[in-house]
Amino acid sequence: MLIPAEASKDRLRKIADRLRANVDIFFTACSVERIFDSELGACVYHDSSICITRRFINILDDDELAAILAHEIAHLQSPTRKESIAALADISSSQVFGWKLGPERKRAVKKLLHTEEFYADAMAVEILQKV
Ligand SMILES: [Zn+2]
Repeated sequence: MLIPAEASKDRLRKIADRLRANVDIFFTACSVERIFDSELGACVYHDSSICITRRFINILDDDELAAILAHEIAHLQSPTRKESIAALADISSSQVFGWKLGPERKRAVKKLLHTEEFYADAMAVEILQKV
């Protein structure tokens, strides 16, 4: 079933407002058609905008969508956010320019990104407990 873009945006806006009232961090939430090459996904950008694909919004119920948003909000609060962004830049650069990360950097990046995701999940639980 095709859900109009405006309906997806309204639903996202309402859930983001509910979360915003319970966190001390600025963010905006927007729906997009694609993130990189996928129609299913969510991410947070350096300007504190959280983007979620419209298709992802449409398959999630309100609680699931709140959980995704809370996870992305937690990334904004992460103490390792800058290092994680640098790690993602390393990965992107290596793919764009065709170079390989050394084994030590590869391990460090993998560990850092896992730590970042576990942190975001744990903080998302804390955020959702306040809502
Ligand atoms: Zn994440």
